[in-house]
Amino acid sequence: MKLLFEISSKDRKLDLIPPCDTEIYSFDDKLIRKEKLRLPEVSEVDLSRHYTNLAKEAHGVNNGFYPLGSCTMKYNPSINEVVASDKNFTSIHPLQPVETVQGCLEVLYEAKKLLCEITGMDDMSFQPAAGAHGEYAGLILIKKYHQDRNDYKRVNIIVPDSAHGTNPASATMVGFKVVNIPSNENGGVDIEKLKAAVGEDTAGLMLTNPNTLGLFDSNILEITRIVHDAGGLCYYDGANLNAIMGRVRPGDMGFDCVHLNLHKTFSTPHGGGGPGSGPVGCKDILKDFLPTLEVAKNENGFHFYQPAKTMGQVRSFYGNFLVVVKALTYIKSLGKEGIAEASGNAVLNANYLMNKLKTHYDVAYDLICMHEFVLSLGKMKREYGVSAMDIAKGCLDYGIHPPTMYFPLIVSEALMLEPTETESKETLDQAADIFIKLYETAISNPEKLHNAPSKCYITRPDEVQAARKPILTYQFKND
Ligand SMILES: *Cc1c(COP(=O)(O)O)cnc(C)c1O
Repeated sequence: MKLLFEISSKDRKLDLIPPCDTEIYSFDDKLIRKEKLRLPEVSEVDLSRHYTNLAKEAHGVNNGFYPLGSCTMKYNPSINEVVASDKNFTSIHPLQPVETVQGCLEVLYEAKKLLCEITGMDDMSFQPAAGAHGEYAGLILIKKYHQDRNDYKRVNIIVPDSAHGTNPASATMVGFKVVNIPSNENGGVDIEKLKAAVGEDTAGLMLTNPNTLGLFDSNILEITRIVHDAGGLCYYDGANLNAIMGRVRPGDMGFDCVHLNLHKTFSTPHGGGGPGSGPVGCKDILKDFLPTLEVAKNENGFHFYQPAKTMGQVRSFYGNFLVVVKALTYIKSLGKEGIAEASGNAVLNANYLMNKLKTHYDVAYDLICMHEFVLSLGKMKREYGVSAMDIAKGCLDYGIHPPTMYFPLIVSEALMLEPTETESKETLDQAADIFIKLYETAISNPEKLHNAPSKCYITRPDEVQAARKPILTYQFKND
């Protein structure tokens, strides 16, 4: 595809800005550019076509299968956008008097109530702007809890080796020491290793259940009991609630706090760096430490208050409010049964796809999976020299987004697939056919996959060169 600079034609004008009718401000001469700014010169229609063509080349949930594991790339209903673009939500100011924004406070209050119900928590703050940010706030809750009881020796956070990379990173940011424990042969927490790891220095445990292998740890009640008996607290990484919402609650599994990714499970589009929301929820024992401000209701309506021993602000104002509007719309439009149906279908779809692929690929843990599963291409790499990266790049030639690669770290040549509840059986069948075709190509023509993709504008980049010596500006021919 040609760049705008390459379709530029000298003096072709696009007059969008009316002539200036005010006095021209004169800048200091040394601030004024000496040569003309080199901008592409194109007509309005060429400009419009250029961006439309570019947009056609972008892959998203709305134009194809997107099984990126641990990311929940589900279809995000359009009604969310309609509601979130209502001017009563978009034309307000965060410092407006609360009596003029009662409806917005009600959105926060109602969303908090429903998400507390879904997670089994007692209170929640919408301040954190992303999952990792929610982890950070949640770990501060744990830290403040211990310090408030004058217990300063609890400096360790236990994290299983299958955890999302943000878990140890957040714990370190909060000033904890990370203690890693290995998984058992079923991909779950090794109970004996956990017992050996807990002690008087344990501040808490961070866990995802189902874990990043897509497996539900059935020892969960014993796991949280062991941590509590040692005086620690349990943190639930609820970035992906897709497998359990409406069915099992972190609060009932014994967790004391949790973060959610509204931009995954609760259907705000993400992936392009757009606004996220990582609310942090907690049981009563931690609620006094929540970020400020919190919303509450009394006989006069909704108001803000500062939790008694608040950690302060982790972000400006009330978090990414419109993402909360979308999440509330999603929950309300699905309803109680719909939420449970969505998680049921997410699990069904993942198991269906896993079983179709099992005829050819090795599944890392051959058990019933939850909302996602992990393939291991270690054997394929050894036998045919084709890596997880090669298969992932091969997906691009068939118009599907690759799965998550090389994660979790404990699986060799990992490909992690999460189809989500929004895909039909036909789409899953087509995707399975593509993966099986790629498998056959790995045997018959590995070279083709080493060079894949061949049908995209950008073929296989040299990843090392691209990272070390990125070319980020356009090189003019006569430069
Ligand atoms: C996505 C994810 C996170 C991080 O969420 P961000 O919004 O990207 O910060 C944390 N844990 C798990 C399990 C995740 O899947």
